Amino acid sequence: MFEKVLIANRGEIALRIHRACREMGIRTVAVHSTADDNAMHVRLADESVCIGPPPARDSYLNIPAILSAAAITGADAIHPGLGFLAESADFAAMVEEHGFTFIGPSAEHIRLMGDKVTAKRAAVALGIPVVPGSAGGVADAAAAAEAAAQIGYPVLVKAAGGGGGRGMRVARNLEELEIAVPQAQGEAKAFFGNGEVYLERYLGKPRHIEVQILADGQGGVIHLGERDCSLQRKHQKILEETPSPALNVAERQQLLTTATDAMRKLGYKSAGTIEFLYQDGAFFFIEMNTRLQVEHPISEMVSGIDIVREQIRIADGAPLGYRQEEVRLAGHAIECRINAENPETFAPSPGCVSSYHVPGGLGVRVDSALYQGYTVPPQYDSLVAKLVVHGTSRNECLMRLRRALEEYVIGGIETTIPLHQRLVAAADFINGDYDIHWLERFLTRR
Ligand code: ADP
Repeated sequence: MFEKVLIANRGEIALRIHRACREMGIRTVAVHSTADDNAMHVRLADESVCIGPPPARDSYLNIPAILSAAAITGADAIHPGLGFLAESADFAAMVEEHGFTFIGPSAEHIRLMGDKVTAKRAAVALGIPVVPGSAGGVADAAAAAEAAAQIGYPVLVKAAGGGGGRGMRVARNLEELEIAVPQAQGEAKAFFGNGEVYLERYLGKPRHIEVQILADGQGGVIHLGERDCSLQRKHQKILEETPSPALNVAERQQLLTTATDAMRKLGYKSAGTIEFLYQDGAFFFIEMNTRLQVEHPISEMVSGIDIVREQIRIADGAPLGYRQEEVRLAGHAIECRINAENPETFAPSPGCVSSYHVPGGLGVRVDSALYQGYTVPPQYDSLVAKLVVHGTSRNECLMRLRRALEEYVIGGIETTIPLHQRLVAAADFINGDYDIHWLERFLTRR
């Protein structure tokens, strides 16, 4: 087993990985920018190396600095966490070329799934149904118009290299499409350095349902159930739950079997998530994330399986520690993403956390790098905490979540806790009756 792991990330996810390493007797190396000198991930790690100034491109995305940090500290392996370099096939390859183990899938699988056009093609070949759309990328508005005539309006223009809900444009007719294509191309080029766009049928009332996979690359593939991530704002997830209140037993089984069979065929290794849209009883693949996901804790809460620990064991060459028959998914879990933002305008609210009190008790887990006196820097993602709650039933989970949200105090900065309090009191949410567009409507209601 590895003796020392470098964690190429920051914030709560760096802590999450540190915790798994600690429990496995592995020493940890934190890397950080100068904005994160006092960050909790730096404080808790066995060693830390400053890798550059605050902008992520100079620090958390600085591959030579990260590889140098691994070399001087004598790390055996590098865990990329999520975001930053986690889905960079080049980074994964370079880590291995420099003699370290990359704790994640092969560079080849990251590359295949990182481009949504090639990912959709791969999904079809693996027997996964995809959202109807253009056969590949569309070069310009004219090509898009041709494809849209086949697909039928409304269509969604999406970036092949997209992520984080960016670079997407809905077009309800030809006129809108002619504007949407160049706009989406420009945005895609600016954000992802790849201007390629493709078209998909725009689904009117889908749910976002994804499957958590663990695979060892030696034939062992299991799922840890599904997650319903339909509560979204600007295509970004706000709250996730498992199991999905929308699925019946047969639909769930079909979804989970399709996903695991596909990953076995692919020879996938490590943790991964296959994302689907679900509408009118049918599932359509949208993308695969070849990494740990923000919402992974809800799957851990219902399965009792430590996903990061399994990632590390698999990267070390061990077979999966579980067979599917041994995985018991019990009860219900919900995660609230708590962002340092105004809960109504969503304007970022970095600054000093003047008071801090975390909820606790049975079935409550908080993944956060906050502490009293810590200053949330303005340079990075606004996610500052994940409140994860487990109950034997969805109802118990909801009661517990309300109670935990009441207890949580984060003073000095604005957070989205009040938004979550409104959500857990909303009748549609309580009834499990929501799709990916529900939250945007709910936010304008007030
Ligand atoms: P990203 O990688 O940017 O997160 P995804 O392809 O995963 O992009 O899509 C993000 C979200 O956008 C989905 O969860 C869903 O809410 C919405 N979306 C994506 N494709 C479609 C579609 N064809 N129709 C309607 N909504 C979609």
